[in-house]
Amino acid sequence: MFKKILVANRGEIALRVQRACRELGIKAVMVYSEADKDAKYIKLADEAVCIGPAASSQSYLNMPAIISAAEVTDAEAIHPGYGFLSENADFAERVEKSGFQFIGPSPESIRIMGDKVSAKQAMIKAGVPCVPGSEGELPDEPAAVKRIAKSIGYPVIIKAAGGGGGRGMRVVHTEAALLHAVQTTKGEAAAAFNNPAVYMEKFLQNPRHIEIQILADKHRNAVYLGERDCSMQRRHQKVIEEGPAPGIPRRLIERIGERCVAACKKIGYRGAGTFEFLYENGEFYFIEMNTRVQVEHPITEWITGIDIVRTQIMVAAGEKLPFTQRQIQIRGHAIECRINAEDPFKFTPSPGRITYWHPPGGPGVRVDSHVYDNYFVPSNYDSMIGKIITYGDTRQQAIARMQTALAETVVEGIQCNIPLHRELMVDAKFIEGGTSIHYLEKWLSERRR
Ligand code: ADP
Repeated sequence: MFKKILVANRGEIALRVQRACRELGIKAVMVYSEADKDAKYIKLADEAVCIGPAASSQSYLNMPAIISAAEVTDAEAIHPGYGFLSENADFAERVEKSGFQFIGPSPESIRIMGDKVSAKQAMIKAGVPCVPGSEGELPDEPAAVKRIAKSIGYPVIIKAAGGGGGRGMRVVHTEAALLHAVQTTKGEAAAAFNNPAVYMEKFLQNPRHIEIQILADKHRNAVYLGERDCSMQRRHQKVIEEGPAPGIPRRLIERIGERCVAACKKIGYRGAGTFEFLYENGEFYFIEMNTRVQVEHPITEWITGIDIVRTQIMVAAGEKLPFTQRQIQIRGHAIECRINAEDPFKFTPSPGRITYWHPPGGPGVRVDSHVYDNYFVPSNYDSMIGKIITYGDTRQQAIARMQTALAETVVEGIQCNIPLHRELMVDAKFIEGGTSIHYLEKWLSERRR
């Protein structure tokens, strides 16, 4: 097992990895930008290294600074968390070339999955069902593009091959709007992801977002840990997640889970990963794979009793998965609310000093957050300040506990989206379960202040 790991991230996930290291008796080296120098998890760290100024391009995305921090502290492995460099194949490669273990899949796997076109092609080959769409990147000839759209059938969605974070997508309803949409998405993709390639998919009208968590080791063992339903989205970004997915028959989950495991074995995948699907009328359609730990991993940890971050570290160190598929049991229900420092109505970011912070507690409540009284939320990064996760024997109990947990939580000094979550936790359609990916947007457009 490793003696020392460098955590190349910030905020709640940096703290989450630090905690896993503590539990395993591993020293954690934390890196931080100047904007994060006062964070408590930095003060509590075994070792901490400043890697640059607030701007992430100069700190959390600064590969040489992170690698030299690992060198000077004698770390053996680097955990990238999520976001930042976690899905950057070049980073994973540089980490390994510098003699460290990258806690994640091989650079090769990251590269294939990081490009959504090659990811889809790999999945088709591995027998995983995908959203009907163009075979690879869209060609330049307008007539060919029109032909592809026609054969898929409108509405279609134009997506950037290198896209992520809900950006680089455009829905097209008519042929008249097609070519302009393709051009605009290409331009945006070139600017945002340094890759102008776009592809086309059928735009599904009423799907749910269902994802399968997998874990794989270096000995070709792989398992799936059930599913999460992440359909409650705003601007293609998850707001509330839960597991298991309400109302989906277990045999369908098992069937798709087995396909994902087979795909992992086929591509020699290792570490934690998530296969994301759209689910409509009893069918799953692969959209992309995340080759890292996800924000919503605590849901799965709770309903399976498996520590995903700990397992990531163990398999990176070369250990075998400590459980088989048959030993994985789903029990109860878990829900996660992402707590963002933002206006709960307009969604504008609300950075600044948190003058009072009172997290919830009690049975079935987990809070993953790096925040404390007097913590200053920097404006340079993502607005998420933590996650509240509740567990219950039933979905109803998990929701009841979430209602109480949200009511107990106090955040003063900045605005946050707790009022939004409180409204959603008593919404009849949410309580019924099984809402589609468009439900929250529609709800927001009809919401009264
Ligand atoms: P990102 O990498 O930016 O998260 P994804 O491909 O995972 O992009 O898609 C994010 C979200 O966009 C999905 O969860 C879904 O809400 C919506 N979406 C993507 N593809 C389609 C599609 N073909 N039809 C309908 N909605 C889609």
